[in-house]
Amino acid sequence: MSEAGQTQDAAMKPIALDVKELHKKFGQHEVLKGISLTARDHDVVAILGSSGSGKSTFLRCINLLETPDSGEVRVKGELIKMGQRRGAAAPIDMKQVDRIRAKLSMVFQQFNLWQHMTILENVTAAPIHVLGKDRKSATDKAEAMLAKVGVADKRHFYPSQLSGGQQQRVAIARALAMDPEVMLFDEPTSALDPELVNEVLKVMRDLAAEGRTMLVVTHEMGFAKEAANKVMFLHQGRVEDEGVPKDVMANPNSERFRQFLSGSL
Ligand code: ADP
Ligand code: MG
Repeated sequence: MSEAGQTQDAAMKPIALDVKELHKKFGQHEVLKGISLTARDHDVVAILGSSGSGKSTFLRCINLLETPDSGEVRVKGELIKMGQRRGAAAPIDMKQVDRIRAKLSMVFQQFNLWQHMTILENVTAAPIHVLGKDRKSATDKAEAMLAKVGVADKRHFYPSQLSGGQQQRVAIARALAMDPEVMLFDEPTSALDPELVNEVLKVMRDLAAEGRTMLVVTHEMGFAKEAANKVMFLHQGRVEDEGVPKDVMANPNSERFRQFLSGSL
């Protein structure tokens, strides 16, 4: 297929996540200075940038772990309505917040598993308590997702009995069990010992290959180049560069992105 054909094909896929002009301040510090991103179904977007550039805040504003000051977030066409409460921006409808979060599963750098629950309980908790699934169907789904990421045999263990790589794979299974529209990953391999990084990247590559829509904050340039179809480089709260990874990472538009890729930023 020609380049033009591919572009047209990609443009016809429905929009999964549409973020417009997101702004966020902490006190006087403006951490996000108007970030926009459109992710279509099956897109894998790698988000790159130096420490402090706003990557985590961007993901956290998308799923409302932080409240953006202004801007729009639409998930599958549903707009998250923000209003002014006690002088600060806040989501208007908390039921909507739950609904949006259920569509956007997040995987954190530090796994964030519940330590007092077994692996199976970690994966079934939200489907039962947030989605209202019955225990049997939640358990069947959890076991399938644990098998998918290769840790089904650990289902009755506690998180502390697993390696970091296994814990992160459980966290991915937990995210998958919610049938999210979009998965958000915040440096999922940064807390892992180097020898455990690949088992997690392999799971993420498999998810990308099966067409999951994903936003991935990462320092893994190989993953960004090979598994992502879009890359976004943040610098001081702005989108400094973006494009198709194999093009823009070989030939950055921005000098800062070039420096970042060469390791000198
Ligand atoms: P990144 O993930 O790219 O390293 P972050 O989004 O974590 O960057 O942080 C961007 C900036 O926002 C940093 O300067 C950080 O110190 C600041 N920041 C993040 N969260 C908070 C917070 N809850 N309160 C105050 N400042 C914050
Ligand atoms: Mg971060």
